[in-house]
This record gives sequence, C-alpha cells and structure tokens, in this order.
Amino acid sequence: EWVEFNHFFNAIIDRFEFSKSQNVYFKRLLPSLDLFVEIDADKMTQVIDNIISNALKYSPDGGGIRFGVIMADNFIKVMISDDGMGIPKANVNRIFDRFYRADRARSRAMGGTGLGLAIAREMIMAHCGEIWAESEEGEGTTIFFTLPFEIQEDGEWD
Ligand code: ATP
Ligand code: MG
Repeated sequence: EWVEFNHFFNAIIDRFEFSKSQNVYFKRLLPSLDLFVEIDADKMTQVIDNIISNALKYSPDGGGIRFGVIMADNFIKVMISDDGMGIPKANVNRIFDRFYRADRARSRAMGGTGLGLAIAREMIMAHCGEIWAESEEGEGTTIFFTLPFEIQEDGEWD
C-alpha cells in the first residue's frame, strides 16, 4: 500500500516515546515533505519496532536516539542512531545474521532471540531496499536502511 513515510515513521516513534520507561531522549530530523512509498506497512512496522527496541535496549541512562530521513532521487534513507555501547568492528555486519548476538553474556541478560535484525533484513530486501549498520564501540550505533522512492511530479497524472 502507499504510505506517507514521515507520518508513518512519526506514529511509530510516538508509540515508543510515550511508552518508554528509560531516561532516553528522542530527537527527530524528518523533512517536512510528503514522501510516498509503497510498502507493506505491517512488515515495515515490525522492522522499525525492532531497530528502535534494540536502540532503547542498549541506550545508557540519559542517552539519546536520533531519527532521520533523507530523500534522494530514487530512494529514501532512514537512520536510527543511539549512544549505546556499540558493536565491535569485526562483528558489525554479522548482527543481521540469524541468531547472532554481539555479546553472549550481555545478550542473555537483555533477553531476545537474535532474530530481529535477520527478519528486518529479509523484509527490507523484499522491499528492494538495503540495510546496514555503522558502529563505534563505546560511542553508539546507527542503523540505516533505504527504500525505493520516486519523486512525484505535480500535475502529472498519466
Ligand atoms: P530479538 O530482536 O530477536 O529480540 P536481539 O535484539 O538480540 O533479539 P537482533 O535485533 O537481531 O536480536 O540484534 C542482534 C544483535 O545485534 C543483538 O543481540 C546485539 O548484540 C546487537 N545489536 C543490535 N542493535 C544494537 C544496538 N543498537 N546497539 C548495540 N548492539 C546492537
Ligand atoms: Mg532486537
């Protein structure tokens, strides 16, 4: 279905912002433009839910989570960035593997199965997008994903 991405993304962020129990602030950097994308809204909600719950899970007290959307010619790039403990460089790409968890001891304490990001990658690929992570140990993690997008030309209905 066709969804205006900023509205869709804001509603998900709101849900987390209203219900979070941690002392973590949210900062949104979303363009004030209509960005219509054709997505499976339920599946995309699952993807974003997992990325935000990971960010919250690994955020320190007083840390922040930043939400951004950038528009390019034929895709939008979404980013969700935290101030958490980060992921060792050698393992950053492995977080999208099934059952992979960066630190066994800490992961056991945090709960979860290690499937969230593997499912997210499958869903983003099914939408013809890409997903990746950049992380600095002790500094934080940013998850990026792209979705195909076409700029709507005003007044053209053919
Ligand atoms: P599930 O999502 O199935 O409940 P999970 O959160 O452990 O379990 P994923 O979401 O797939 O699984 O994440 C895989 C692993 O990647 C995590 O266990 C964690 O080690 C690491 N990871 C993911 N996001 C972050 C983050 N924002 N900061 C630090 N580590 C992260
Ligand atoms: Mg997860």
